[in-house]
Amino acid sequence: MKKILVIGAHPDDCDIYAGGCAALWSDRGDQVSFISMTNGNAGHHREPPDKLEKRRREEAERAADVLKVSYEILDHDDGCLVPSLENRLDLIRRVRKFAPDLILTHRPNDYHPDHRYTSTLVQDAAYMVTVPLVCPEVPHLESNPVIAYLFDEFTRPAPFRADVTVDIDSVAKRKWRALDCHESQFYEWLAYNMRPGTDNVPTRADERLLWLQNTWSEFLERPAESCRQRLIETYGSAHGAEVTFAEAFELSEFGSQPGEEELRTLFPRQNPGED
Ligand SMILES: [Zn+2]
Repeated sequence: MKKILVIGAHPDDCDIYAGGCAALWSDRGDQVSFISMTNGNAGHHREPPDKLEKRRREEAERAADVLKVSYEILDHDDGCLVPSLENRLDLIRRVRKFAPDLILTHRPNDYHPDHRYTSTLVQDAAYMVTVPLVCPEVPHLESNPVIAYLFDEFTRPAPFRADVTVDIDSVAKRKWRALDCHESQFYEWLAYNMRPGTDNVPTRADERLLWLQNTWSEFLERPAESCRQRLIETYGSAHGAEVTFAEAFELSEFGSQPGEEELRTLFPRQNPGED
């Protein structure tokens, strides 16, 4: 049994970038914990922050049920996360208490300050989780967990490097259902802010899910398209070429460095015969 800790900035990031793997991990008996570093209370165009925070906690709980993970929303205001010493020490304690084999988080160069500082906090906590005299009230870890970054398309200072790709087609429906739980985001805020406007968002639940898939498929297909070569190396040319939805990860130099064999046990669907 592996323990996987996904640390995102907002109460939907973990689902968007690792929801498929989370479903595969929980199905194989691993323990998956999502942390959202902020409470998501700024992500709306008309909802007041206190009401939005409550909604987002409830939405995350529903998504957690779908993916069979635990979901913790920390109490930092959305858009206001800072890589302070206090926040670093808090994260060190949380990582030690869960003792993950693997941590996933954003890359450090990302458009959103909360994503950047989430990544910074994880990087700052990385080695320190093994240092006994830092936060001595919580027992230190014997070894640094493996740390990997979630997929993005930023190219400076370096484009994303797909060290691991996971075919999530078999659980794509569950990932869509998890995203569907984040109503205030996909059907309200992101529709208003990014695409394609709120005018045509259906009100019926079944129509909404279809609308979500139609609107966001292109975005969720990008990891497979952009990391196709790695998918082919992992799954062979026929299977690798056919994957529609994948999740991809770049290993961090600040975590422990896994060998090929360890990578195949940490991440789902890396071994022949798992299909
Ligand atoms: Zn986010």
